[in-house]
Amino acid sequence: MALIVQKYGGTSVGSIERIKKVAERVIESSNRGNKVLVVLSAMAGQTDALIEQSKEITESPDPRELDVLMATGEQVSVSLFSMAVKSMGHDCCSLLGFQAAIHTDHIYGKARIRTIDSKRILRELDKNGVVAVAGFQGIDEKRNITTLGRGGSDTTAVALAAALKADMCEIYTDVEGVFSTDPNICSRAKKIDRISYDEMLEFASLGAKVLDIRSVEFAKKFNVPLHVRSSFTENEGTMVVSETKEMEKVMVSGVVFDKNEARVTMAHVPDRPGIAFKIFEPVFRAGIVVDMIVQNTSVEGFTDLTFTVPIADFQRTIALVQGVAKDIGVDTVVGDEEIAKVSIIGVGMRNHAGIASKMFETLSKENINISMISTSEIKISCVIEEKYTELAVRALHEAFGLGDEKAEA
Ligand code: ASP
Ligand code: MG
Repeated sequence: MALIVQKYGGTSVGSIERIKKVAERVIESSNRGNKVLVVLSAMAGQTDALIEQSKEITESPDPRELDVLMATGEQVSVSLFSMAVKSMGHDCCSLLGFQAAIHTDHIYGKARIRTIDSKRILRELDKNGVVAVAGFQGIDEKRNITTLGRGGSDTTAVALAAALKADMCEIYTDVEGVFSTDPNICSRAKKIDRISYDEMLEFASLGAKVLDIRSVEFAKKFNVPLHVRSSFTENEGTMVVSETKEMEKVMVSGVVFDKNEARVTMAHVPDRPGIAFKIFEPVFRAGIVVDMIVQNTSVEGFTDLTFTVPIADFQRTIALVQGVAKDIGVDTVVGDEEIAKVSIIGVGMRNHAGIASKMFETLSKENINISMISTSEIKISCVIEEKYTELAVRALHEAFGLGDEKAEA
């Protein structure tokens, strides 16, 4: 008998109709002889609606009370779901985070799971065959309700799968799996059958919103096999697993892009010890995450420094950097929000030469200028003008042979 964790996201349980459909699906799985631990998100849009309500009272709601409020979204879905399962003649039991003994630290709004005491869950699974746990929530050492951060139900599911040593963790969503690029811009995008945790981490952090990145880190750490698939069809989705030799045969597994970064450039920066620290220290202290940093070799004691930050932090960064600029005698700080980062990803890159040059060649053929480049073992990223994003993604997808033969070009 297998133990399966199935997580259903907001759109999968977005209406009463959908909740009934999911209940049928879970019962089928249980009838095939599995124990099914179901983790649910709030019904689509509910968490946002709750936050909106709190904003009608105050712009900065008390974090403890906001967590109590947000956790109600998942309470609604697990209770309705359990009712649906029971009304179909199968046993089920709903558990909130504290009942499932999901213990977290005390950081409201972005708590981390510390331990899970699986006794109650296992007891209920033995008794009912199906148990529904509220995603996204836990309890701290003082028994306060905490939430794990937006999209946190994925992490609940993976953490439970790890704690219970489940045979499989299935993440049900509204897409068929992880695609070689965004199907909305490239009709030839193809569903990937198998992908490594590391590749998935790159896909997740670069804007493919299928899986919450923290859940992938968790899955990698505890070696939990993930199956990302659609709750709207029966098709197999994407397996996210440990890297295998087989995966290295594929040079590039996907093309991703991110339009949410902005670029800051400081020209004529004095090249001496301590300058980088002076510039970045206030930025880091403000909690701003700097992504790419490029510094030129200096000419006559001066250099140029360019880096990228999230668009949301752009204005703040410019203000901070301008403050330092005066101090160190730099008079030009320029910024650009109209940029995009386009990246190719693949564990196969480790063993294949010439991938970077093929990427640059492809972009040059389209007359797209590259303004920054960064590489890692399994990824190459180029910053380009935002208006060329779609063109670049399609060209790279084609150049690396990722297209689906069956789809229209
Ligand atoms: N309901 C929460 C959110 O909307 C958690 C989740 O859906 O994973 O962020
Ligand atoms: Mg999600």
